[in-house]
Amino acid sequence: MALIVQKYGGTSVGNIERIHNVAERVARAHRAGDQVVVVLSAMSGETDRLVKLAHEATPMPDEREMDMLLSTGERVTIALLAMDLRGRGINARSFTGRQVGIITDSAHTKARIARVTADRLREALDQGVIPVVAGFQGINEQSDVTTLGRGGSDLSAVALAAALKADRCIIFTDVDGVYTADPNVVPAAKRIDKIAYEEMLEMASLGAKVLQTRSVEFAAKFNVPVEVNSSFKEGKGTLVTREDADMEAVAVAGVTGDRNQAKITIVGVPDKPGIAARIFGPVAQAHVNVDMIIQNMGQDALTDLSFTVPRADLRKATPIIQGVAKEIEAKSVSITEAIAKVSLIGVGMRSHSGVASKMFEVLSREGINILMISTSEIKISCVIDEKYLELAMRSLHSAFGLDQVPQGDRSGK
Ligand code: ADP
Ligand code: ASP
Ligand code: MG
Repeated sequence: MALIVQKYGGTSVGNIERIHNVAERVARAHRAGDQVVVVLSAMSGETDRLVKLAHEATPMPDEREMDMLLSTGERVTIALLAMDLRGRGINARSFTGRQVGIITDSAHTKARIARVTADRLREALDQGVIPVVAGFQGINEQSDVTTLGRGGSDLSAVALAAALKADRCIIFTDVDGVYTADPNVVPAAKRIDKIAYEEMLEMASLGAKVLQTRSVEFAAKFNVPVEVNSSFKEGKGTLVTREDADMEAVAVAGVTGDRNQAKITIVGVPDKPGIAARIFGPVAQAHVNVDMIIQNMGQDALTDLSFTVPRADLRKATPIIQGVAKEIEAKSVSITEAIAKVSLIGVGMRSHSGVASKMFEVLSREGINILMISTSEIKISCVIDEKYLELAMRSLHSAFGLDQVPQGDRSGK
């Protein structure tokens, strides 16, 4: 008898008919003799609707109250699924994050999991009950409701799988696996049979929202085998697992695009020691993550400094940067939201050279200007004008041979 955590995303529980479909799947696994723990998201669009309501109530909603509000979406779906299963004579019970002991820090709206007690879950499983757990939520040490960041139900599922030492955590979604690029953007994208935690982590953090970044981090840390599969059809999915020798055969495993960044440029910065610390210190204190940074030599001992921050933090970062720019007597500050980051990812980059130069060549052939570049051992990212993102993704996908089934077959299609 295997213990399986099954997580269903928003589209998969988007209406009653789809909830019936999930109930069928859960019932099937139960009948096959597996122990099942179900983790659910809110219905698709519901969390966005709640965020919008909050901003209608007040421009900068209090984050504790935001979590109180956002956590309601998942309560709806767990209760509906548990009712459905019970209606079929299956002993299911819904549980909130608090009830299953998901304890987090107090960083409301992006809380980190500190520990998972899961006592109630073990008890339920011992009694033959199918627990249906609300994803995306926990409580802090003061018992206030917290949420785990957008897409956080993936993390709830992986964390429960780790705590229960489950045999597998299956993330059921609207695609049948992790693809070489977002299949909704690059129609030629292929499903990947297995992908290394490290590659998946880069893909997620560079824009592939099929898995939430922290959930991959958590899975790697606790060695949880994660499968991504479709809740709508049967067939093979993608296994996210430890790296093996096959995985280095191809240089590039995937292409991602990310529109969630904005670029800030401080023009005419005095070129002297200590200036970077004076600029980035206050930004870090405000918990704004700076991603890429470039500095251009200007004239008369002045330089221009450009960097990217998450678009969502732009409102918070702008007055801070304007304040610092004034203090250090820089000339001006300019802000562009219309940028995007295109990235190539692959553990094979460690052993294949020439990936960066080929990437630059492909972008230049398409007439796409590169605004910023950053690299690590297994990824290369370029910031470009947002309007060229889809073109860049498709051209790179094709140029790196991902439109075809790659040699050393990592692709399932
Ligand atoms: P859920 O609501 O089930 O959590 P998400 O919308 O969060 O689903 O994630 C699934 C979506 O991720 C897909 O519909 C797809 O458009 C997108 N996606 C982005 N990059 C990839 C990729 N490399 N492979 C598969 N899906 C991807
Ligand atoms: N409902 C939450 C969101 O939309 C969490 C999730 O779906 O994973 O972000
Ligand atoms: Mg998701």
